[in-house]
Amino acid sequence: MSPQEFRQFGHRTVDWIADYWERLESLPVAPEVAPGQVRGLLPRHPPEHGEPFEALLHDLDGIVVPGLLHWQHPRFLGYFPANTSGPAVLADLLSAGLGVQGMTWSTSPACTELEQHVLDWLVEILGLPDRFRSDGSGGGVIQDTASSALLVALVSALHRAGKGMVRREGTGGRRFGLYVTGETHSSAVKAAIIAGLGEQSVRQVRTDPATLALDVSHLRTLVMRDVADGVTPLLAVATVGTTSTTAVDPVAAIGEVCRRHGIWLHVDAAYAGVAAVCPELRWLNEGVAEHADSYCTNPHKWLLTTFDCDAFWVADRAWLTEAMTILPEYLRNAATESGLVTDYRNWQVPLGRRFRALKLWAVIRWYGVEGLRRHIRQGIGLAAELAEWIRADERFELAAPHPLSLVCFRLRTPPDADPDTANLRLLERVNASGTTFLTHSRIHDRVVLRIAVGGTFTQRHHVEQAWQCLAQEASRILRSTPA
Ligand SMILES: *Cc1c(COP(=O)(O)O)cnc(C)c1O
Repeated sequence: MSPQEFRQFGHRTVDWIADYWERLESLPVAPEVAPGQVRGLLPRHPPEHGEPFEALLHDLDGIVVPGLLHWQHPRFLGYFPANTSGPAVLADLLSAGLGVQGMTWSTSPACTELEQHVLDWLVEILGLPDRFRSDGSGGGVIQDTASSALLVALVSALHRAGKGMVRREGTGGRRFGLYVTGETHSSAVKAAIIAGLGEQSVRQVRTDPATLALDVSHLRTLVMRDVADGVTPLLAVATVGTTSTTAVDPVAAIGEVCRRHGIWLHVDAAYAGVAAVCPELRWLNEGVAEHADSYCTNPHKWLLTTFDCDAFWVADRAWLTEAMTILPEYLRNAATESGLVTDYRNWQVPLGRRFRALKLWAVIRWYGVEGLRRHIRQGIGLAAELAEWIRADERFELAAPHPLSLVCFRLRTPPDADPDTANLRLLERVNASGTTFLTHSRIHDRVVLRIAVGGTFTQRHHVEQAWQCLAQEASRILRSTPA
């Protein structure tokens, strides 16, 4: 494809995206496809000869779009939002066009330095501690996801706890303890598996029944028990905004326990951390400055930045880079040897890395910090309104506190009806209607429905429409449920 052809089809492609965003609202949010249906529409063999680009756009409309769950649909209210936005998409296109690799400083100095700079900006914007800054003891890096962030935090923790021996000798039969709750993201268990510690290293700390936040006295008990058993307490995960309900663990109190026992404290604020752009939500960071060894939040969820973009910081970068640095001959260069530069390949699992800082830079510059605050506040405001509608409707009940933009609730059912069945049926019917898309979770083993506001294109009337759809389907279900 010549630059001239690229220009032509590039314009067409940008038009396609703009048209897609404009017509999203008229599409059913969730697809109606059976397993294998999409593949059934694809040719069995790849083309022997090149095809016009139009053919691809044609199949995008005919084959791909009908098989998509439209995450950018304004009435997509499931899971957590995965914000995309114009400036982020355009900057990602620039990143693809530049096609540079940022594995070391010398393989593209601007790729590394812009990333350091934008993450320092983010420290300032979110009110995170100065020691996370690149000119302090720590520093930030963009990981693909919060799951990767947790894995490299765990490797750093092992390096620190093993006094540098683990990278040479492995764990050598030494037993380590990881502390999470039933509400911690599943990536913690996955990290333990990948690191070879096994699921048996993961301790489940109890949560407070009302807030679902980690119970610090139980954490103390489990740590003491491990110490008595000869297990080294290694890493605790404190979640700021859990995935099921956006519960907030008491970071400061957890940090006190961690400090006493030399436990690495990783704060997982994947969804909620970006909300700290708003000064009134800075309480989300309480305890982070004093106690966190590492911290992450995902601009790719709620801060208008196209996936993938997880912002990850460490308080002391030496543990991370010492744990992971390997320097093969073909990567040797004068800048690395000078010690004056950051080589991000030592901060992540892969070697190669895309120029992801561009999209974050574009988002911050396009919206400005005030624009980012407006987006967060809108999500929170709409969720608060929705919670009021739910509270005022006797057919429903709120199922958990809703400090941010997620509301968990359930349909009340007559005593002789099974509440889980009724709620799952409601979910299924709402999603099958095509007008809105929700997901569910469980609290104390009972089904709850989740509405996560915060999509890039979601406005008040969309939340109202979703609520109407829900209320309508609820009436139908209650009418058909034996009273
Ligand atoms: C979404 C989420 C994750 C996982 O995010 P990825 O970036 O997709 O790995 C981890 N922790 C919490 C609290 C989350 O909400």
